[in-house]
Amino acid sequence: MDSNSVARVEIKPGVFVLVDSADLPIVRAGAWMLKNGRAYSCRGFLHKLILRASKDVWVEHINGDKLDNRRTNLQLKRINTEVAEESRKAERAQRFWEQVAQSNPDACWEWQGGRYPTGYGRMYWTAKGNAYTHRIAYELTYGAIPEGLFVCHHCDNPPCCNPAHLFAGTAKDNSQDRDRKGRHRAPEVVRQLAREGKLKGRATTFKPKGELNNRAKITPDIVRAIRRAAANGEGSAREIGLRYGLSRNHTAHIINRSKWAHIE
Ligand SMILES: [Zn+2]
Repeated sequence: MDSNSVARVEIKPGVFVLVDSADLPIVRAGAWMLKNGRAYSCRGFLHKLILRASKDVWVEHINGDKLDNRRTNLQLKRINTEVAEESRKAERAQRFWEQVAQSNPDACWEWQGGRYPTGYGRMYWTAKGNAYTHRIAYELTYGAIPEGLFVCHHCDNPPCCNPAHLFAGTAKDNSQDRDRKGRHRAPEVVRQLAREGKLKGRATTFKPKGELNNRAKITPDIVRAIRRAAANGEGSAREIGLRYGLSRNHTAHIINRSKWAHIE
């Protein structure tokens, strides 16, 4: 019997397994039944016995035929826990992309789920808790974020998760990018610069001030009303703020003009 020959063995009436002849002793030593379509005895699964695979190792039938137990048809896979971890990761990634409004490749793909107050997307990501969605998008697409680097937006749009709009940079890159795009400038200045073609890169977006910012809960009228109320001694910053659903700190900033200073 040459070592490459294959045997077809009836392990129970009408059920045949294929094994290399060298493995016939293993087949003959067991009383077989079928479990999940695979040959199983009190000593374990035939395919695992053939490869002497330990309990936590997965063995795959390459051609999909679970009764074809020739060694050339068996492949050791990673440890089960790794396989499970891998599939958890894939599921998590799928859950992530389902919440990203993916449109055409050039557009901003905004995160549809929860956001941080800064506008960046937020997702419960690992057992450690929440993560920034632009960082998740970067990692899922390009791999780990290089140590010490930030994930920055070319488009300057915090909730955007389009990988084409993301790059890893230093804190300096981030602030230079921001300055170049005028995120720190008043919108009218940015518009003027844009008209004059003085903004580089994808400098078509910016973080507008005050009521132009769609995350603002307040309008110029509310700002004026808050300042009037404070001037009239109608209560503390906390009390006045409560009327508008604003925090004490935010209200105090409005009153002392460290916020909304451009409103008379
Ligand atoms: Zn974008």
